Amino acid sequence: MRHCDIHFIQAGFCRHCEAMTRRGGQWRSVIFPALAGLILHQSGPVLFDTGYDPAFFTATAPFPQRLYRWLTPPEITPQTSVGAQLARYNLRPDDIRCVIISHFHADHIAGLGQFPNARLICSRRGLQSARQGHAWAALRRGVLRALIPPDFDQRASFFEDFAPTALPKDLAPFTDAVDVFGDGAVLAVPLAGHADGQFGLVLRGQSGQLNFLAADAAWSSRAIRDNAPPPRLTTALLGGTQSYRTTLGQLHDLRMRNREILITPSHCQERALEEAGR
Ligand SMILES: [Zn+2]
Repeated sequence: MRHCDIHFIQAGFCRHCEAMTRRGGQWRSVIFPALAGLILHQSGPVLFDTGYDPAFFTATAPFPQRLYRWLTPPEITPQTSVGAQLARYNLRPDDIRCVIISHFHADHIAGLGQFPNARLICSRRGLQSARQGHAWAALRRGVLRALIPPDFDQRASFFEDFAPTALPKDLAPFTDAVDVFGDGAVLAVPLAGHADGQFGLVLRGQSGQLNFLAADAAWSSRAIRDNAPPPRLTTALLGGTQSYRTTLGQLHDLRMRNREILITPSHCQERALEEAGR
């Protein structure tokens, strides 16, 4: 695999009951950071998700969308949005050539409005599912349609149309991927269970280390280590319990076989603190 640099940017966080995200977790509210990935690909800077954005508050002002804000209350300001934090890397939002979307939950796409010229890469199935049914049904699945830009289709390309490729053997038991830019640098991996059409990314950082951006296939590194899924209530509401547990089991196997790979769930506090300390 070609190398490309990766940085993690925390764009806000929310509070949620830990026991709803991991069996054995505590029945108290804990912090879940929202991590975005900044990938310095040879063709230009690319984002993996956007985390929270102040646009979340606009989208959750009316009912029933306001329930989302009550269930997982976020903290995000213009200064902590991903677009504002790009300045640390001498970049502006206009420099982002494309945003790769893991799935359509609001805490992954809230910042899309900051990148009106970027190409958007996502799962066709994920997009179709986000648009299915009425607002209540979408909300139940974690989707706020107001956060999907009106010109989304004109700028979109889909994982399902990219060339299939094999993952490096180090990634077993994961085997299948698609090549996002056609140069072998960024591979997208289907991660079934959490949300329709969810994909993670595999790439090799400048140091040669393999990174697996696991989106919401697990809420924490600890859930992967312990192979501890959330309760059925959580997974059945958002996606599919059986497929979620299969994917989490694969991440657990990968972790046990190969500790060199850096696996980053999007909302892992442990990983967010490691990155903040770099
Ligand atoms: Zn999610």
